[in-house]
Amino acid sequence: MSVTAIVGANWGDEGKGKITDYLAEESDIVVRFQGGKNAGHTIINDYGKFALHMLPSGVFYQNVVNVLGPGIALDVEAFLKEKEELVSRGVPEPQLKISERAQVVLPYHILFDKYEEERLAKNQFGSTKSGIAPFYADKYYKIGIQAADIFQEDRLTTKISHALDIKNSLLEHLYKKETMNADKIVGDLVRVRDKLKPHICDTVTLFNDALKDGKRILLEGQLGAMRDPDYGIYPFSTSSSTLAGFASVGAGIPPHKITKIIAVTKAYSSCVGAGPFVSEIFGDEAGELRRRGGDSGEYGATTGRPRRMGWFDVVATRYGCMVQGATEVELSLLDVLGYLDEIPVCVQYEIEGEKTDTFPVPGLLEKSKPVLKTMAGWKTQISDIRKFEDLPGEAKAYVDFIEESIGFPIKWISVGSRRDAMIRR
Ligand code: GDP
Ligand code: MG
Repeated sequence: MSVTAIVGANWGDEGKGKITDYLAEESDIVVRFQGGKNAGHTIINDYGKFALHMLPSGVFYQNVVNVLGPGIALDVEAFLKEKEELVSRGVPEPQLKISERAQVVLPYHILFDKYEEERLAKNQFGSTKSGIAPFYADKYYKIGIQAADIFQEDRLTTKISHALDIKNSLLEHLYKKETMNADKIVGDLVRVRDKLKPHICDTVTLFNDALKDGKRILLEGQLGAMRDPDYGIYPFSTSSSTLAGFASVGAGIPPHKITKIIAVTKAYSSCVGAGPFVSEIFGDEAGELRRRGGDSGEYGATTGRPRRMGWFDVVATRYGCMVQGATEVELSLLDVLGYLDEIPVCVQYEIEGEKTDTFPVPGLLEKSKPVLKTMAGWKTQISDIRKFEDLPGEAKAYVDFIEESIGFPIKWISVGSRRDAMIRR
């Protein structure tokens, strides 16, 4: 039996989808435990290139049970559409289970996300407008809808009508938009419930049985440590915890069963949306890294927006690995840096003239300036290399330097976007 969490040490888009897909081959269950369709996990395998949003990254293996835990934000339409798209592209029908307690993203969550960003105008967060912040706000405000409620129509109608008392008041007076009608929202959910039904289950019992049977479970994090509401760059964070520690709650697995935590960090930095980003670079320097990054440039898998670019940030990544409780680290996208003569790395922050190794609170993060050190580049293509020893000396030195600086063991090095481009160390 093993339970492994795969989580981001940075701002998200570290390449978690790739390693989840890679490790899913030897797993029985892959679980998403937080977030919703705002995720974008890129996977390139024999079926083609996919950007998964709602679905766990184990969907390409028929023997894997893919679970959406109670901690996620279930967009029913997006879930069904993504599943159908997968099948239409030749992927065998995946096994998909959804916790009966998972809450449902409703049309007003998506609208409120959009209207609030419009209202904030210049000060907007750069939301993916998937309804995530309004959804989690309602969940903790106790006016959310659980998946099981869709199958009790009276209860569903009462709950949505109750929520609309509040929503319609805001729509009318704050946002000056048209109000909404409960019957329409209920009708749309009732129409798809037969398609949803086979997937809905009691995931507490499912995991209890799976653990008893010694099944191998992968917990798939979304976004990264910097987006955690408590430990990240609040309020430029997401609205559910992105930490491995939350996987226990968001999936429904006893904390002591999670024995391996793989924190994924990029060999450089990228960040989508607003917020402080200390090692950020601009202009041509950023443009070139963006063009060469990812599998075909660094553009959001969900929004298509150009990602903000930066050098590797030791301060943020060490902290990211700490809050994730990493037992090992994957350094991803190392191949991308092969064009540089010299590679700058942010090794400390300088805040009002003082240098620090410690990741600061958001108010001080905004005042932080990067202290850079320069490493030698290797100026060669490394995507076909599968053994650490075979990497160019400069690349090995770069990996060793990062490992020593962050203080967590780098056990995996990803050298290309395809499934097999991985070095196990
Ligand atoms: P996730 O959200 O953490 O799953 O990451 P994304 O899929 O949003 O972004 C990572 C991007 O890098 C995607 O375009 C991947 O195909 C790509 N990718 C992942 N690992 C590697 C790698 O080692 N090298 C290269 N060149 N691209 C990679
Ligand atoms: Mg992503």
